[in-house]
Amino acid sequence: MNNNEMLLLKLGEVVLKGLNRRSFEDKLVNTVRRRMKNCGSFQIYVRQSTIYVEPQKEDCDMEAAYTAARQIFGVVTVARAVPCEKDLNAIVETAKTYLADEFAAAKTFKVESKRSDKQFHMNSIQISQAVGGELAEAFPHVKVDVHKPDLTVYVEIREKAAYVHAPSVPGAGGLPVGTGGKAVSLLSGGLDSPVSSWMIARRGVELEMVHFVSPPYTSQQAQDKVLQLAQELTAYCGRMLVHIIPFTKIQEEIRRNCPEEYFTLIMRRFMMRISEAVAKKAGAHALVTGESLGQVASQTMMALGVTEDVTSMPILRPLIGTDKVEIIRIARQIGTYETSILPYEDCCTVFTPRHPAIRPNIEDVRAAEAVLDIDALVAEALEGETWVRVKP
Ligand code: ATP
Ligand code: MG
Repeated sequence: MNNNEMLLLKLGEVVLKGLNRRSFEDKLVNTVRRRMKNCGSFQIYVRQSTIYVEPQKEDCDMEAAYTAARQIFGVVTVARAVPCEKDLNAIVETAKTYLADEFAAAKTFKVESKRSDKQFHMNSIQISQAVGGELAEAFPHVKVDVHKPDLTVYVEIREKAAYVHAPSVPGAGGLPVGTGGKAVSLLSGGLDSPVSSWMIARRGVELEMVHFVSPPYTSQQAQDKVLQLAQELTAYCGRMLVHIIPFTKIQEEIRRNCPEEYFTLIMRRFMMRISEAVAKKAGAHALVTGESLGQVASQTMMALGVTEDVTSMPILRPLIGTDKVEIIRIARQIGTYETSILPYEDCCTVFTPRHPAIRPNIEDVRAAEAVLDIDALVAEALEGETWVRVKP
């Protein structure tokens, strides 16, 4: 640990966006500033497609900052680095102390250099050769191997300083949140919808969540579990609003008045209508679900057609072509898996038909639900809406 240590965040797709580049970078820098607030006092600025995160005080939590940096969409790689004077001796000394442990563990190494400051008197090849030569002398047990080294030492000559670092690690990728507009995501307590939310957020979309509850059939713990999932997603998405919608009456009305084989489909049509209303109020332009083709009866092609029949908004279904195994892999990676598998009921599982229609006819479903006062039920559910603001 070196108390000069700082972070270099390299931007990805953002730099390809030409004219939008400035606004993308500005959004991203703001996001980085907000996420770093909990980790201490940092100076944060952008130069040449790199965001610099420099601790200003001793008490900065660099581990926390490093973790947070890796969860910010729009960042392609993250490196911990130490700045030093733009001088060969200073660079060599910095590498010797900062990477001493790495050198102790390595048998071979190489130096890779980058010169963004074209005023610097050596080119990148010359820098690598000079620094590599000095380091080989300083650590005689380590040999130079330019093809498959155990350790690569990176040297970057930039505007303000030179930077020394070991290999960078992958960041979260994608696009900065807020550059792709806003959507409303239907969040249940399952494995799928947190993953689908994360995938859409990664494309730069700001999210608000909608969750349907059916007390007393669903418990407070089930709702708390969903809020916890939302909380876990804030590490990537930033703070967000969770709309909680009472759904009991709608489900009871469906059970009392509609054919059992259509229970789930009619219920899902209500979810779409209500979510669309929430989205319109929020200024959002799409809905997001965790549906995956063929996963359950309500996710066959025909069932999906019946579900989306009631809304004119695009429904984004990032998991549509994924298997459960892949979904579980992502859930583990983003940290929602352990919460998702907690055993609480969801409103979807409360009145599950024994034999759901898997090839539903849209006219039949429309006719089956026509006995309900749909507009009144939707309005009443929206009146009962409550909100929770979830913060990182
Ligand atoms: P998940 O694992 O996300 O719960 P699932 O495979 O169990 O999904 P369903 O229960 O049929 O499938 O739900 C499909 C999608 O509908 C979910 O991914 C989610 O987007 C939405 N959804 C289901 N239940 C709720 C709910 N109670 N509140 C909000 N959205 C819901
Ligand atoms: Mg579910």
